[in-house]
Amino acid sequence: MARSEAEAGAVLAKTIPAPVVRPASRRRPFDYLIVGAGYAGSVLAERLASGLGKRVLLIDRRGHIGGNAYDEKDAAGVLMHRYGPHIFHTNSDDVASYLSHFTRWRPYEHRVLASVRDGLLVPMPINRTTLNALYGLDLQTDEDAEAFLESRAEPVEKIRTSEDVVVSKVGRELYETFFRGYTRKQWAMDPSELDKSVTARVPTRTNTDDRYFTDKFQAMPADGYTRMFENMLDHPLITIETGVDFDDVSAEAAYDRLIYTGPVDEYFGHRYGPLPYRSLKFRHETLDQPWFQSVGTVNYPDESVPYTRISEYKHMTGQVCPRTTITYEYPAAEGDPYYPVPRPENQALYKRYEALALDTPEVTFVGRLATYRYYNMDQVVGQALATYRRIAEREGRTVAV
Ligand code: FAD
Ligand code: UDP
Repeated sequence: MARSEAEAGAVLAKTIPAPVVRPASRRRPFDYLIVGAGYAGSVLAERLASGLGKRVLLIDRRGHIGGNAYDEKDAAGVLMHRYGPHIFHTNSDDVASYLSHFTRWRPYEHRVLASVRDGLLVPMPINRTTLNALYGLDLQTDEDAEAFLESRAEPVEKIRTSEDVVVSKVGRELYETFFRGYTRKQWAMDPSELDKSVTARVPTRTNTDDRYFTDKFQAMPADGYTRMFENMLDHPLITIETGVDFDDVSAEAAYDRLIYTGPVDEYFGHRYGPLPYRSLKFRHETLDQPWFQSVGTVNYPDESVPYTRISEYKHMTGQVCPRTTITYEYPAAEGDPYYPVPRPENQALYKRYEALALDTPEVTFVGRLATYRYYNMDQVVGQALATYRRIAEREGRTVAV
């Protein structure tokens, strides 16, 4: 795929007003049925239609496209994310340039504060400003902060868990202040029971960089995620049906190959038992005031507070609006499967499902739920583009992306 900037602009101009859901004719023969219209399913639908000329039926059990990245204007006209705050960041030029065919971007660097001790707000990830504010210090340089953290860090022989990874870097007190309560709420599990990869997502800094991410590309789609998906899927060879489950469509639709982006254990009828996923309940509130908090997200690591974080969308979208919308996230055992739970026994169970998937070559499993990976949006796009390359190569086609 190598469309020029001008061509990409032309695509945008042509597609912006187009409605995305076309009347479906499931019985028409399709080359591909794609289950799930999130990043995994939508990127593959676009690539297969635009790149290989395939006829695609893309379905989702939800009433919309975009998967968890879906955004919409609420009753007050504030652009908000129904499934919690989504901030785009990537180090992959390929992923950024692929998505840039379907959206313009608004530069945005996410900042997070943690509410600790009597409501004191300090930067998260922990940085030099955090340490100075928390302990009334005047650490001036990276070396000062490094020496301070070293004096607190506890040696851990083999770093395996989400507790080890933090305690070995910043010591027990900072771990308890910022990580233990938040993690126990988010996962209903002590950090010592979770793989190190979970808390390792959040770095510790000795400088004063207070951005949540340091990726080279950080931006929000200028007209929102849903609009970006609409542009991606506006292709005559793509038919979209939302509000329908795979079970309702599978017998009726005529297709050659299946791409499945839902939970892999569900596809196989939970044959080896359910894979654990963590869910969330969202409380969205629109307030009759222009702003609620000073940054996009405030984290609440204290275990006595039932939610983990509050996010305010206008910081991310740059929307100018007299009112503001915020979302509280309450971790939950029941509900939509949002997070795979990284721990060795779950990985072992997933490996059994993966073996089944490998034994089912007529189905391609891709995405966060189908490959049971705690992936960010850009990683799912990268995975879907790699999957496309493999499909194209199987057909003897060479592709640029
Ligand atoms: P999904 O978006 O989950 O899409 C799968 C789709 O398949 C769903 O719409 C589902 O309804 C559909 N489906 C499943 N089974 C069936 C079936 N049987 N029949 C029909 N349809 C079916 N990533 C970032 O990069 N930055 C962030 O800031 C960020 N924030 C996040 C915040 C939260 C609260 C969550 C939960 C995730 C966040 N992510 C973030 C991760 C991001 O949401 C995912 O990486 C990405 O959306 C995964 O895309 P996907 O296509 O794999 O899955
Ligand atoms: N975490 C924490 N305190 C925080 C932020 C994160 O303990 O203030 C831990 C927690 O276990 C969380 C993980 O680090 O689930 C990853 O954080 P991230 O912000 O990446 O979570 P996500 O945005 O994926 O929900």
